[in-house]
Amino acid sequence: MDPMWTREVKLSQRKLDPLGLSRVSQWLTEELLPGITTVTSVARNYSFYTWAISNLLKMNKITGRNQFAQELTKREAAFVIGSILHEASKTDRLNPHGYDKAIRFIKKVNDGKIQVAFNVSESNPEGFYGLYYRTAMFKLGLTIRSRLFDDLAPLGRQLAAAFESNIKDTDYFKYYIQDDEVDKTLLAKYGERVCICRLADPSKERELLRNIMFSNNLQFLKLERSRKESLLLVLSLIKQSSDFGIEFTTDTFGDAIFFGQATNGKSTFNFKFKSFEEIVAHWHLFQLHEYFTFAMESLLHALLNELKKKDEGMSFDDFLSLVCNGGTSVSEALKISSIGTIKETISLLLKDYQLSELNSDASRKFDRLCNLEKEVSEKKLFSALQKAIKSNNLQETVGNAIGILVLNYIRAYHLLNDVDTITLWFTNRALQELSSVSFAQYIRSKTSMWTMNDLIRYCFKIVRDQHNSIALDKLLYGNDTYRFEEKGNSLKFKIDIYPNYPSQRSSKISSVLSILEQLGLIETSGNIKRLTHDGTKILEDWLHERVD
Ligand SMILES: [Zn+2]
Repeated sequence: MDPMWTREVKLSQRKLDPLGLSRVSQWLTEELLPGITTVTSVARNYSFYTWAISNLLKMNKITGRNQFAQELTKREAAFVIGSILHEASKTDRLNPHGYDKAIRFIKKVNDGKIQVAFNVSESNPEGFYGLYYRTAMFKLGLTIRSRLFDDLAPLGRQLAAAFESNIKDTDYFKYYIQDDEVDKTLLAKYGERVCICRLADPSKERELLRNIMFSNNLQFLKLERSRKESLLLVLSLIKQSSDFGIEFTTDTFGDAIFFGQATNGKSTFNFKFKSFEEIVAHWHLFQLHEYFTFAMESLLHALLNELKKKDEGMSFDDFLSLVCNGGTSVSEALKISSIGTIKETISLLLKDYQLSELNSDASRKFDRLCNLEKEVSEKKLFSALQKAIKSNNLQETVGNAIGILVLNYIRAYHLLNDVDTITLWFTNRALQELSSVSFAQYIRSKTSMWTMNDLIRYCFKIVRDQHNSIALDKLLYGNDTYRFEEKGNSLKFKIDIYPNYPSQRSSKISSVLSILEQLGLIETSGNIKRLTHDGTKILEDWLHERVD
């Protein structure tokens, strides 16, 4: 497992999301994968915490949050140490959350004993439960949250009992749970049962956790089956990818849901989505917003890069005169020779699709047909954009970013008129924020008058205003997040957009892959992921159910 996912990420909200574009993407992934987050990548933590809560409520009279936290983190430290000891001799180790801190205590072994009365997290009093899992477990229907201490829902109690039956024979469980330090040999024995790798073995615990992940969403959530169908979609894509003989990564997922295709750099492969049409349509909107985000943030990055060069600052108009070159950078990126209005440019792009002008129908067709085999697609523009950013090429950065926004507009156009459930689910939320649809809504009435220069100017104006409004918003909470500041007529550089731009948003698919692997549903050999016998069965059972 990638250690990045198990190391504690100190989420410094201060530095993230300068244009507020994550609001829509976070909302989307929350709706599509409730109960799974970018950081809940260790499947066994879900069942461990149910057991820890049930056990501490049984063994200790909990009268307040502090005591709940102390008892929880003590059990967690033993769980983490047990896991580390069990994995120590392996080459392909799984690292539990809290590895960095726990390893320091393991090294301080004293008279054969290791201290367990400490918190493996550096930043949350309730350990990684409070930091990562608490809300996720609530959304799976496992816990009941309250002020003094959290309790278990009936489903959580079942999972706790199943976990307990896997560790009940250990001496740690029988005699030492309440101790502040425990013999290393006993913790190593406990590790043989409690280790995060042991979830993959057949047991009631594994069965229950699979059922929980693949169940319908809780009733208070808007979408009924999104988590279950998203997980099944990932299984189906992994199966198809292994049939194609290609790697399955989070990028493959992004290409699949957006273009319906995957590529290994040489060939292109078509995915089949029978029985997955609805969930794919939801995820498609996620990727639409991702491309919008990359493009807008790249424009901010381009602006900052120019400001950086001038200690005395620069006026916004002077900056615009640098980037407005009559639209040639955009037409080069889009491989057309237009220098007319946006509407004329779009008509040239649509010609390749035997479409004449942009209307809802053309937008829908373009959205379906613009794929990885086309000479111009978001994927190709994005990789050109990344190169341009690396080589600090201002014109190409702007050209490719605006190119992505033009394609994004064409695809989003029909969303402004459509009233089907999936579109309304998205637009009701996305129109309230800066997003593909609010952008499309604004420029729709301008395309027959505006030239590419007008569009470039408008996009940078959005970037400047949105940056200022988000930074002001965060200032109200005491965080100074200004990337540049405006004094009089002059803009001055302050800090970079991200330490390394471009950095991509997460679709939570990394966590999904870890969880599916730890549940024994997928396996990786070489770089190829494939379904296990059980993974195949879950997918096939569901497909049969859909046909009936
Ligand atoms: Zn292990």
